[in-house]
Amino acid sequence: MPDAKVIAIEEHFTSPYLRQVIPPRDGPVQKMLDDITGVRLKEMDEGGIDLAVLSENNPAANNLDPETAVRVAKASNDFLYETVRAHPTRFAGFATLPLPDPKASADELERAVTKLGFHGTMIMGTSNGLFLDDKRFRPVFERAAKLDVPIYIHPSPVLPAIFDAYFKDHPGLQGPPLGFGIETLTHTFRLITSGLFDEYPSLKIIVGHLGEAAPYTLWRSEHNLARFQKMAKGLADYYRQNFWLTTSGAFSDSALACAIAEMGIERIMFAVDWPYINNALGTKWLKAAPLNDKDRALIFEGNARKLLRLT
Ligand code: MN
Repeated sequence: MPDAKVIAIEEHFTSPYLRQVIPPRDGPVQKMLDDITGVRLKEMDEGGIDLAVLSENNPAANNLDPETAVRVAKASNDFLYETVRAHPTRFAGFATLPLPDPKASADELERAVTKLGFHGTMIMGTSNGLFLDDKRFRPVFERAAKLDVPIYIHPSPVLPAIFDAYFKDHPGLQGPPLGFGIETLTHTFRLITSGLFDEYPSLKIIVGHLGEAAPYTLWRSEHNLARFQKMAKGLADYYRQNFWLTTSGAFSDSALACAIAEMGIERIMFAVDWPYINNALGTKWLKAAPLNDKDRALIFEGNARKLLRLT
């Protein structure tokens, strides 16, 4: 591969500020999330990752009361700013937003982009049970469009009623095996059917896990949605216009081929989903994937550089 750097853009941490208000996970994963420079940098080196765009771990500030959310999100972003400043060649940042206060979230996104040099935001799915198509979150999208920065929609656990109906008797299927995919695919399609992209046609949305199966289902979803809802464009047209995908935790040659075929090579970016997924598993996979060197370099580096304006 000629000189392409490796940029990974769904890489998580827990700041001391979120740690104070959200119960920690058990075991080694929380230690890795807390360890902002130790094992993280070691595993980036072992996996051949040059630059990681960091994001506060799920659920970030999504489910707090508004006042606490604003306080800890600002503190978290300041913490990430200092982290990036100490390691400018290894880290960049996505802002954490205090979503329970949408207006404050829009202002914090602007502060994070214009004052802290962040490259957009990662939103951890639903906030206090609400999907982002809820009208009260429109100020966040309006500001992202104005700033021309992407919003990365990350999975959150399915809502309790869905858990009870779908997964209570099959708890192994919640989370990454199935639940996260259902939640995020629903979330992204809801943004489209809400009319969001007619209001803000230039919005840029990133989705991980190769789109949570969206590329595979685009034709069928568009074909049938047209029977139930009239929209200015087809579902797939909105998806191809407004969405970018990452490889986070989805290292399959055939799924990648489908994503590239549906979206175009310039819409796919590399991500691992550290610490939940091993860095070397991701880089080894993409280095061996059946791509020409130019396309591989676009996924590893070029597409993220362009979309996130990483210099
Ligand atoms: Mn993740």
